[in-house]
Parts: sequence; C-alpha cells; structure tokens
Amino acid sequence: MGSGIFFPICGLPIILIIIITFNVKKHINSKETKLFNLLVIFNLIGLIIEILCSYACRIHTEHFLISNLILKSYLVYLIIWTDIFASYVFLISSKESSKMAKMFKSVNLVLLFVFIILIYLFPIDVVTRNNFQIHYTKGLSVNFSYAISGLYVIFILYLLLKNIQRIRNKKYFPVFLFFVIGTAAIAIQKVYPQFLLLTYSQTIICLCMYFTIENPDVKMVEQLNIAREQADRANHAKSDFLSSMSHEIRTPLNAIVGFSEYIQTSNSLEEAKENANDIVSASETLLEIVNGILDISKIEAGKIELHDSSYNIYDLLDGIVKLGKGRLGEKPLDYRVHIAEDIPSTLYGDHANLKKIIINLLTNAIKYTDTGYVDFSVRCVKNTSVCRLIIKVEDSGRGIKSKDIDKLFTKFQRLDEDRNTTIEGTGLGLAITKQLIDLMGGRIVVNSEYGKGSKFIVAIDQKISTEEVKSTVTLEHHDLDLSSNNILVVDDNKLNLKVAGKVLEKYKPNITNAESGMECLELVKNNKYDLILMDDMMPRMSGRETLIKLKEIPGFDTPVVILTANAITGVEKKYIEDGFDDYLSKPIDQEKLYAVLAKIFKKQETVDYSNKEILIVDDNKLNLKVASKVLEKYNMKIDTCESGAECLEKTENKTYDLIFMDDMMPNLSGVETFGKLKEREAFSTPVVILTANAIEGSEKKYLEEGFNGYLSKPIDKEALDKLLKEIL
Ligand code: ADP
Repeated sequence: MGSGIFFPICGLPIILIIIITFNVKKHINSKETKLFNLLVIFNLIGLIIEILCSYACRIHTEHFLISNLILKSYLVYLIIWTDIFASYVFLISSKESSKMAKMFKSVNLVLLFVFIILIYLFPIDVVTRNNFQIHYTKGLSVNFSYAISGLYVIFILYLLLKNIQRIRNKKYFPVFLFFVIGTAAIAIQKVYPQFLLLTYSQTIICLCMYFTIENPDVKMVEQLNIAREQADRANHAKSDFLSSMSHEIRTPLNAIVGFSEYIQTSNSLEEAKENANDIVSASETLLEIVNGILDISKIEAGKIELHDSSYNIYDLLDGIVKLGKGRLGEKPLDYRVHIAEDIPSTLYGDHANLKKIIINLLTNAIKYTDTGYVDFSVRCVKNTSVCRLIIKVEDSGRGIKSKDIDKLFTKFQRLDEDRNTTIEGTGLGLAITKQLIDLMGGRIVVNSEYGKGSKFIVAIDQKISTEEVKSTVTLEHHDLDLSSNNILVVDDNKLNLKVAGKVLEKYKPNITNAESGMECLELVKNNKYDLILMDDMMPRMSGRETLIKLKEIPGFDTPVVILTANAITGVEKKYIEDGFDDYLSKPIDQEKLYAVLAKIFKKQETVDYSNKEILIVDDNKLNLKVASKVLEKYNMKIDTCESGAECLEKTENKTYDLIFMDDMMPNLSGVETFGKLKEREAFSTPVVILTANAIEGSEKKYLEEGFNGYLSKPIDKEALDKLLKEIL
C-alpha cells in the first residue's frame, strides 16, 4: 500500500451520494434492497478503513497493535463485503424455497464469524519498499482472507454459470462488473501496490447496482395496488353482472323456445293462441331486460348524458297518469292522482329521464299491489328559479321487509322471489331509477311496511323555465269539440245531473237530462244521441235494466257508458261484461272522462296506404318475415330483398314509396347501399334504417348519414305509425 489514497477518497463522495439518494426515497424493504443497503454501508466503512490503512502501515513499528487492528479490519471488511455480494447473487439466482435460503443464511453467518475470528488471530506483516514510499501487507492473515475471498468468487462464478440462461437480466450486470473490474483492480494492485483500487472498484459496483436492483417507487406501488384492487373489483362486478344477466335472459328465452315448440305440435288453435300470448309476454320481458341492461350499462359507463330542455310538466304527468291507468288493466285498484296546481307549468330539465323514474315507481306500485289503492301525487317547493318536485307514489300492496330495503336498488335483485313468480320483472327498474335520480341530483326515500304497503318519495330539482311550453294536453282537451254531438245523461239525482253537465261543459256538447230509465227509453225512441251516460242505481228501473231495454230498440247503436258511485273492486269488468261501452266512477275524474270521450268521439285517423309500394331490405329471412307481418295491416304492397346488391338492382327500374333498410348486412351494409342509392341522380325515395343497433347515439348517427328515419328492432308499433304518417 502506498500513499495513493486518491481512489478511496474519490470513492467516498460517490458512496455517500448513493447512500443518501437511496435512503431519502421511501423504498420497499425487500431482501434485495436490504442487501444493497448493507453493501453500500460496508463499502463506506471499507473506504474509510482503507484510507486509515495507509497510515497504519507507517506506524506499524511504533504502534503495532493499533496498526494490526486497522489492517486486519480491512481484511475483515473485504470478506464481509464479498460475502454480502455473494448473498446478493445467491438471492437473485435462487428460485429455491425460502427454507434453503434460510439454511444458507445461517451457515454463512456461522462461517463468516469463524473467518473473522481467524483473521484477527492470524499474524500480519507490513512490507515497505522504495524507501518507505510503498507499503503492502503479507502474512497468514492476508493469505487466509484472500483464500476465503477466492472461495466466494468461485461460489459467485458457480451461481453465474448455473443461471447462464438468465444472464441477459440486467441484475447480472453488476456481477459481470464484479469479475471484470475486480480482476483488473487486483492485477493492477499486484504490479502497482500504491494504487488502492479494490475498494474503489467495489464502490463502482455499488453504483452500478443502484441502477439495476429492483427498487420500485413506493408511491407508484401504492397506486398500482389501488388500481389493481379496483380492476379486481370491476372484474368481479362484471362477472356477477354477466352471470345474472345470462340467467335473466335465459328465463324468458326458455319460455319463448318452450312455448314455440309447443305450438308446433299443438293441434288446437285455442291452445296455440294461449301459448302465443305467453310468448308475447315473455318477449316483452326480454325486451325490457335488454333495454334495462342498455340503460344500466350506459349509466354505469358514465355514457348517459342528461338532456335538459324546457317541457310542460302537466303534459308529462298527464302522460304518466294515463300510462298508469293502462297498466292498471283489470286490477280493481283505487287509482288516486293528485297533481298540485301551483307547479310552474314550464320546467327545465331532463324530462325523459324524469318520466322514466316516475313510471318505474308507479308501475311497481301497481304491479305489487293487488287490492286497495295506488296513490300518485306530485307537489312542489319553489323559489324564483328552482322548483323542487316532490313525487310520492304510495300503495297498499305487499310491502317490503325492512331487511330488504337495502337491496331494493341493487340490479337484478328481486325481493320476495317466491311471491314474485307470477309478476314479471327484471330487478333492474329500481336500480336504474336510483342511478338516474343520483345523476339528476335528486333523492329518493322509501317507507314500507311488509304486508301493508310502500311509499316512495322522490325529490328532484328542476329549473323554472322562462320560455313557455304550451300544454298539448289542454290543447287536446279543447281539441275535443262536441258541439255537434248530443249526449243524454240519465240519473235520478238532480244534483248529479248538474255535476255531469258542469264537467262536460268544456266540450260543449248538447246535453239532455233524463231522471229515470223510463224517461231515457222514451227519449231515445224519438231522438238520436251520440252518447248516453247512465247511472246504475235508480229506483224502479236500474241502469242495467235500462240498457237491456235500450238494446231491444231496433237500430239502437249509441254507446252507453255507465256512470256510477259503485266503485268497489271488480265492478268495472262486470259492467263491461253487461254490455256497457265504458265505465266512469263518481266523482268524475276529469282525466278519465276525457279518455272515455276521446275514445268514443275521436275517430282514429286511418290513413290509406293501399296504393303505396315499399321495399324491405334485410339479409335475415326471419327479420323480413317479421317486418312484413308488422306492415301487413297498412295494406301496402310489400316487396322484400335479402342484400344491398339486390336492393340496388330492384330500385333500378322501379320507384318505391319507401325503403326499410337493415344496416348490418354482409358485402354491402345498409349505410353503403344507401350511399350508392344517393349517388343516383333521380333517386328520391325515402329510406328508413331498420336496425338492431339500438345503442346510445346510433339514431343520431344514422340520421346524420341522411336516412329519413330510424326504427330499432323489434319494431315499436307506435313509432312505426308515426314514421309512416310523417313519410307517406
Ligand atoms: P322488478 O320490478 O323488475 O322486479 P325493480 O328493481 O323495479 O325490479 O324492483 C325490485 C324489487 O323490489 C321487486 O322485485 C319487488 O320485490 C320490490 N318492489 C319494488 N317496488 C315495490 C312496491 N311498490 N311494493 C312492494 N315491493 C316492491
């Protein structure tokens, strides 16, 4: 050893920087990082000892003990560092069980301890050359430590060769370096003992390791862990969703397939019809599920956007009330409706989704209630710009167990399954409802008592619009002008006659009153009426009896509507069976009265399409058959073809009034076919896209392509009606 302590002094700042930068950053305490930390710290100690050694050599003769201690400590350092490095190589090379690693560790520790003791026990000597310019050590202690280091090197070499196939791994780079610069350092030091290169070369190896060891950023790892957990959860949710979806879809499908097969083999028409009814109802459920799934997935994917616009709240509620009435069907429920009159008529918000929310609640109330009432009320709390709608749907139905309330808004979760078997449903309605309410910034509260009934209250804020949207309902009411119609009202109670006159007033009919069945018969014989409103419970001759007598009059064809205070369950059905055309209960509900009058007086504008020729393009024969069937009732001439190419051919020489075009067809898609049609100069036939692609935004996309209309499969009859009226 000489005075050339230049290298260890250079090594000091390098190793210090490594230690600091490595430890400042929070890192995962893996075995690898622990070993690395030991390596750098020992290297720092080694560098210091090496510097001290150069002085220890000089004072060897005067301070023999101290000098020996320092010199031997350096030898000890050398084998400790090499030992740690060997452990590191063992760690990165071993796939062995931790048991093996543990054994290696204990054996190694014991051996290391023994080696250290021996190094301290064996003698050491200092050789001085070149007039005290160069010192180096020799003796048993030195030779022993070199021998041990040699053994470590052989061990490391063995590990390296054993894992030769993994050699490309960047972690082995420091091991290479260990051999290359280790050998070079020893060789140089042998010739020029004044250059203290060994420890410095270890510093360089540490520096290299700093970049190759696995030292993941803790923050990043935490983020990754969170992301992984989220992905796991989403994956789980997806599997759950798929499995319940598959189950839900299979159930109605099973009914459809089963009943269809049954029809194929059944001989009786009656039976076939019954099965067909079941198929229709299972198909409706299926459609509801598919729509529900689309809704739910749109909401969950955050793809649903609120479309705010001004709308007339009374129109909206009116539509809902009517729909509810339709859903009541034959159910003998007292359908109570109360809409507050102080709600500002024009509101601003997403009325389509608001409607969905209310309809879901109202339909459920009707579905899950067999007797009693369904009460639907809407009121509001408002300030100058915002109107909070408070919507209440209450029923006297089966109610919900308190333990089930939490599950109510979970998708595909139907409660009371054993009682639900006859009630159709998907378990999606309330999940969608809840999500929509959340999206619209509203709240929903449920109160329910099992066996007694349920109450759902929704509060949603809507802006009060400054522009006014005229109610089409009131227009409709005015629309119904009965000034040229004669109505006969039969009731033994004068007050009731007066009330009837009042509620009919706005339709301006000519009203005649009769106070008994006999008087009614008398009047009918001599006059022509367009409608008779008949009380039932009248003395001497009841409404029923009067009807029987009326029917005996030759040529009598006036519609007769029963107007009675008898509103107990089941009576409506009974009256209709008795031959009445419709049923109204007292007190007269304006909405219901309007519905009845409209049914009788508003003749359906039937449009004649018999001179129209249309072409349906679809590659699926079954779809063509279904579409033709649906269009059959319009009496038009229907032509079909099964590809875009065929369509192009057919339209070459013939002009149709309308073309229905499927999109997803092989070779030429609907959109492509349409593109080719448009290229023709004289082409002016309206083309309506008829597609199963019902995802959000597809309608807009098709209309932008230039299609004259959009219908999704299965074809909605009302939409078709409207479209035909518009286009033809
Ligand atoms: P679905 O009606 O299609 O089954 P929903 O999500 O609308 O699905 O409702 C979930 C479940 O909550 C229903 O299956 C039913 O058991 C229960 N439920 C909903 N509304 C009511 C109600 N008004 N009265 C009693 N039970 C109800």
